[in-house]
Order: sequence, then structure tokens, then C-alpha cells
Amino acid sequence: MIETGARGDRASAPARAAAALAAEPIPPPLPSRVTIREVGPRDGLQAEAPLPIEARVRLLDALSGCGLGKIEAVSFVSPRAVPAMAGVAEVWAAASRAPGVAYSALVPNRRGAEAAAEAGGFASLQAFLAASDGYNRRNLGKTVEESVADVAEVLEVGRDAGIPVEVSISSAFGDPVEGEVPPSRVVGLASRLTDLGAAGVSLGDTTGLATPTRVWEMAVAFADRLPGLALNLHFHDTRGTAMANALAALEVGVTELDASVGGLGGSPFAPGAGGNLATEDLVAMLEDMGVATGVDLGRLLSAARLAEELVGHPVPGRLLRAGPRTS
Ligand code: MG
Repeated sequence: MIETGARGDRASAPARAAAALAAEPIPPPLPSRVTIREVGPRDGLQAEAPLPIEARVRLLDALSGCGLGKIEAVSFVSPRAVPAMAGVAEVWAAASRAPGVAYSALVPNRRGAEAAAEAGGFASLQAFLAASDGYNRRNLGKTVEESVADVAEVLEVGRDAGIPVEVSISSAFGDPVEGEVPPSRVVGLASRLTDLGAAGVSLGDTTGLATPTRVWEMAVAFADRLPGLALNLHFHDTRGTAMANALAALEVGVTELDASVGGLGGSPFAPGAGGNLATEDLVAMLEDMGVATGVDLGRLLSAARLAEELVGHPVPGRLLRAGPRTS
């Protein structure tokens, strides 16, 4: 048995930990406020059968009225590659944009970035690539190095147009093809991207391989090497760890998380990767813990109900089934 100091103290390790927690103020230190970037209109809907333009506008407008700080609104990818995102310019032109919301557009390359800049109204562009060749080849048909060249072109377009560019790095916590992806490799890639001009980085747990310990290790690696970088984390609930990972991220100082209304979406190219963290589930937990999100939960639940109605099948979000606290 481990010597605990006080003679005769035979309490188990869990009992001692519980006693220590009870003696300290609860909750543990968390940020007082976090930004949630809603990705349902893009990441969510791209995994669904294509919806009419009018339906996509309705969802976007519903989310714009919820108090969310950021919304990934649309994607300027090839409609042949992602049919659900066809008609992006029409969706964006018809949407009622709320003044307090920073909208972003996902762009795969120079052509997409130029189309987004031409459409106008975006607070930032979102370029993307994977941390590992295995997933990058599957998702984009290229090596990571080839994708870095595409991202560099997007950064150039953003610079010329005066629009900040953030970069999403997928498979950051593990690759379904290759397996391990060391945090040092992810940080090294992020460092190159910021040297090229990226304004921020989002790390995607594409197939839900992250656990709280891995989140802590990653956040520490970033804080050591890129302390000034705006870091966003994007979790998938493929293996049931997304909410635990979100809390773990806040415990080590991350203040921006992605989530998707109703839990819509995931990557269409990663088998079993469905299940973005549901925005309303995350908001309900954080607000109850005293972490402000700025989101009106009632309106967000209405938007989640609308999302479910529009896609025509039950969505994975839990709060929609169980309901929020009423007291
Ligand atoms: Mg996702």
C-alpha cells in the first residue's frame, strides 16, 4: 500500500482524490467564456443527402439568431466532389447574416478561396489538410506536402483580399490508415502554416481517437511551441469521448471549440466518423458549469429541431431527446 503520510490512513486512492476535490472549490478552473464555432451548415450538411437551397438558408438563418460567436457557413468545394454543397453562392447570397456573428467559408484551394473572396462577407477563410499522409491521400488524394502547397495558395488569396485564413488539420489525434500521429508532428505542421501566414489552427479528431490525456498533451505541446496561436479543437464522438475531450481542452486553456447543431455530420470519407459533438449538448453542459457561451439554448434547440426536420431522420444530439434542465 502507498504510504500517505498520516499514520493509520488507509483510505483508497479514489477516496483520497474525492476528499481532496471536496475540500477545494468546485468546479476546477475553467475559462469564464468560450467561443463555439457552429459547423452544422457546412460540416453537418455535407454528410447528408443534398438539401434544397431554401432549406440550407433556413438552417443558417436559424443558427444566426442563437448568439453563436462563429458559424462555418458554407464550403466552396467542387459540387462534383461534395454534391451537398452545390449552389453555395446562392445559399450565401440568400442568408440573413447577423451582425455579431463571424462567418467563415471552407475553401480547398486557390479557386475556392477566390470564389469566397468574390462572394464577400466572410470574417475568415478555412483551408484544410491532414496531419498524416494516410488520411490526406484518402480525403484529398494528395500527400500532406502537396496540400501544404494548396494551403499556401489559399493564404496568398486571403492576404491579397484582406481576409484572415485559418487552417483545419484533420487526423490530428490519430489516423485511421496510419495509426499514431505524434503531437510533435502536428505542432511542426502548425508552425509551418503560421510561418506561411495562417491566423489560426483547428485540430480535428477525424475518427474520434482522442482522449482527455491526448488532448492535454497536445494543448501543452502547442502552448510550449506556439503560445500566441489561436487554437480551435474539433472533436468527433465516434468512440464516445467527444464531450470528455471538450472539457479536457477547457481545463488546459483552450477557449474555442467546434460543434454541430444536432450532432450532424462528420467526414464522409472516414468510415464511422459520423457524430460531430452536438452544439446544444455542449452549450447545456458548459452553461450549467458557469462557462458562458453567449448562446440562447432555447433558440439553439429550435434550430436543432429544424435540422432534424430538414434532414428527415433522427439526429444524434442527446439534449433534443432528453430535454434541458428546467430549474
Ligand atoms: Mg467534423
